[in-house]
Amino acid sequence: MTSLSTHLNDKELWKIDKDEVAYYGHMVLNASLEKLINVASSKRDEHWGNVITYSRKIFVPLTNMCRDTCSYCTFVKHPDDPDAKIMSPQEVLLSARKGEKKGCKELLFSLGEKPEKRYAKPKRALEALGYESITDYLTDMCKLVIGKTSLLPHVNAGTLNEYEIMKLKNVCASMGMMLETTSKRLTKKGGPHYACPDKVPIQRIRTLISAGYCKVPFTTGILIGIGETLEERIEALLLIEKINKRYGHIQEVIIQNFQTKPNILMSKHPEPKLKDMLQTIALARIILNPTISIQAPPNLEKKHLEYVYAGINDWGGISPVTRDFINPQHPWPNINSLETMMNEIGFRLMERLTVYPKFNTQNFLSTTIRSHMLKHSDYLHPDNKLKELETV
Ligand code: SF4
Repeated sequence: MTSLSTHLNDKELWKIDKDEVAYYGHMVLNASLEKLINVASSKRDEHWGNVITYSRKIFVPLTNMCRDTCSYCTFVKHPDDPDAKIMSPQEVLLSARKGEKKGCKELLFSLGEKPEKRYAKPKRALEALGYESITDYLTDMCKLVIGKTSLLPHVNAGTLNEYEIMKLKNVCASMGMMLETTSKRLTKKGGPHYACPDKVPIQRIRTLISAGYCKVPFTTGILIGIGETLEERIEALLLIEKINKRYGHIQEVIIQNFQTKPNILMSKHPEPKLKDMLQTIALARIILNPTISIQAPPNLEKKHLEYVYAGINDWGGISPVTRDFINPQHPWPNINSLETMMNEIGFRLMERLTVYPKFNTQNFLSTTIRSHMLKHSDYLHPDNKLKELETV
């Protein structure tokens, strides 16, 4: 087996064909939105039928400290802020149990990136808990969750190296990291990713490749409206497709819209229009392998049902317990109301696990996770809902 560094240095894997970018750019600028949406919608129907899924989950913000300072973030707290914290194991377990009681199957750990590498306070807080890094602590919190509950951990821990990914793979069902953008421009002074070491596109692309090399079912996505151009959106989607073609590990791609909030550096930055979202969702559906689930959050746009017409097949995580910590001003829709709305437009809402059935193999999941998943055998049985999803 070739080493990861050979893969990371493979220039072919990183190269984006400018003609292909121009082709899709031309398509978007010359076709009507209606036509684009119709093409995307038919491709979704062909592979996913009239089923739109969601994952019933509990969100656990393990730490809100981060070494990055993205201009659109409200989640992050400076270590001197009285609300900055690292959750204790007891708090993690309490949240997990609340989620379990409400029928959640997934526990999503969301966290800032490596705060201990920049600040003394989180470093000391981790030391007091007996850890050197937040990733080590996260690994043990995943172990705690699978040891004490039926929940399947999904971790959004940002950029990770091979060693960190392999440790986490043993104890979590799936992982995620938004690519967000491939634009280096946005890391320059005045850009949303200025002075954010983990938002340098090369670092995020390395994580995407490393997760593929380590065979981890992976969620990624792009962020719309932070200053990227149409070409840059297309480049990001083409790159995700290319990496998935090599490793087959991308299970979901999220198309997320930037949301303005009062206390962020980008509070005056305009939000993307619904048209931008519909166009990008449709493009994602057209560019990406049809087996990749395309997801857009239902709580960040009033007219979210239109996303269905543009080609999504998944709403992502919806929690009956916790708020959206990244966009706290936007509550999750009520699951029953969403189901009714789906039915009214001729679609069915179905629950899924954090791992899609085709990744339930020895290659992609550790033995520990596979046996833990048996607790949700309703979702793994050949005649069950997920099998149905797999074959539509
Ligand atoms: S990396 Fe994530 S948590 Fe950190 S500042 Fe950026 S958006 Fe916020």
